[in-house]
Amino acid sequence: MSGSLHRRLRCCLLGIMTLLAMQFVILVLVVRLGLIDELISRRLLLQQQQLSLHQHEWQDFVTHTPDQPHAFYQYNRQLSDNLAAVRLLPTTRHESCNRRRYALPHASLAKLSVVISFHNEARSMLLRTILTLISRTPQEYLHELIVIDDGSEDVGLLASLERHLTAAYAERGRPRLIFSRNLNRKGLIWSRNEGARLASGHYLLFLDSHCEVNDGWLEPLLERLTLNSRLAVSPLLDPIEPETLSYMAGNELLKGGFDWSLHFHWLPRVLADKETLAQPYTSPVFAGGILMISRESFRKLHGFNPHLEIWGGESIELAIKLWLCGGQIEIVPCSRIGHIFRAAHAFEFPPQYDQEQELEQELQQLGSAQATYLRNSKIIAESWLDEYKYLFYALKPSAREIPLNLRPVSTYDPAQIKAELKCQPFDWLMRHVSPELRLQHANLSALGTLRNAGRCLHVAGTVPQLQLLLTSCHSLQVTQWHLHHESGQLSTEQRLCLAVDAAAKQPQLSLEPCRAGQTGQHWLRRNTQLQHARTHLCLDNPLKDQLLLSRCRPHAVSQSFQFALEMEAQS
Ligand code: UDP
Ligand code: MN
Repeated sequence: MSGSLHRRLRCCLLGIMTLLAMQFVILVLVVRLGLIDELISRRLLLQQQQLSLHQHEWQDFVTHTPDQPHAFYQYNRQLSDNLAAVRLLPTTRHESCNRRRYALPHASLAKLSVVISFHNEARSMLLRTILTLISRTPQEYLHELIVIDDGSEDVGLLASLERHLTAAYAERGRPRLIFSRNLNRKGLIWSRNEGARLASGHYLLFLDSHCEVNDGWLEPLLERLTLNSRLAVSPLLDPIEPETLSYMAGNELLKGGFDWSLHFHWLPRVLADKETLAQPYTSPVFAGGILMISRESFRKLHGFNPHLEIWGGESIELAIKLWLCGGQIEIVPCSRIGHIFRAAHAFEFPPQYDQEQELEQELQQLGSAQATYLRNSKIIAESWLDEYKYLFYALKPSAREIPLNLRPVSTYDPAQIKAELKCQPFDWLMRHVSPELRLQHANLSALGTLRNAGRCLHVAGTVPQLQLLLTSCHSLQVTQWHLHHESGQLSTEQRLCLAVDAAAKQPQLSLEPCRAGQTGQHWLRRNTQLQHARTHLCLDNPLKDQLLLSRCRPHAVSQSFQFALEMEAQS
């Protein structure tokens, strides 16, 4: 009896162990052969098919895209037309972002209004931006979508889009759809302010018209905004390549910044001890123009500066204003939005100045895009940079000549905003938010254009055909020089250093790549003279537009060179 019980027990045990072993073998096989991946991609494929089921409904809308050359859009429009309206995107965020649960407010307290303003966007691209947004945003939070056509040439686009979208989303009643068309182009800045004016949600998201939001984009942003009402946030932007439209992973080690010319730059950052790539991080400015903010904060800040025209500088201005007036900016890497970064502007800028206006010739000759950006930058410098605006003018001397004659477009007045919100001076931003700005001139003794007798020292051409000459100080491309405090090097932005070829019979001026410890690149500042340390000769312009080296003669006008900005009293 006990013997047979024993046998049965052994049998049972053996059975269980065989079963476990088989399960283990199957598990190993599944993992090794990539069967899990296969299963996942099957599921994704199924989703993709479901999403593209509705694709044919949009064909009618897309096929009415007017034919335009490639330069009109600056991306592969044909490919865009042939891709699914909503396509699967690779998961680019850190895997811990997928595992986390986000602390979200009740949907009735966090209604989102998305504002998209577009000018001359391809129909398929705009549609992909919108449909992807609707399908990847929790329905209960997506309160409304405000689409503003900023005077696009495709005049039938907006009405057709309205018809299709209204039909598609009428049944579920969400999101609320608002369409508005500027018969004449009014620019991105005006249009985004108008979008915000039409909005009724708690939060605003400003989105470009060539974006694809990735899965789970909203929750990480919303969580941050509800934790801290002073905050405005950007997602981490994943680049979409303009020709292949392939979706790539953005870089978590970059933040948004700007230089003294008020140009946007990505700045490198380093992780703090124990900080992970998934954690939100502060950033001096937003990631490009894509940002989310509470409608109330936006209102308190008086929105985007309406004196800025068409495109450019508005999100830098909002960022400076936000930081100085009690706000904060974060980039949230668990939230990913794809954006097409184009190599050049696809759109024209309306002319800034009419021919009759009396202006410096160089300003008249600026391209409209440059003229607009320069004017917008000058407004920002005058509004927020306090005494540091002289650094801006040092780098952009022609901005001084720009007449501002601000039209009374609104009551927008930076001085009033500063008083209302008790804003800090600009210096505060340099100390607490953007130390990079300080570093940019910390070890310089002078910078900007270098002028002698009304003409500026300029490097023309490219390596190896470089030419050193004197030119008009107002041309936008005129060389900006940096005189380095310790090394005495006089360098251009391309890291070329003014040097003296002492081996030649007569010491000759030359340009060479800047190298540390190169004594031939060392200059001394003697009042307004520039004396070459090794040869003791001075930079000279004895005849019109001729540069050479000669014996230093105190008070010689031809040896007097002024930088746009001198940081130190000269010996
Ligand atoms: N845009 C607009 N009106 C204009 C210029 C641009 O509505 O006069 C739109 C444009 O279609 C895009 C957004 O503003 O959706 C941002 O412009 P763009 O993508 O060219 O800027 P970038 O991403 O290069 O900074
Ligand atoms: Mn864009």
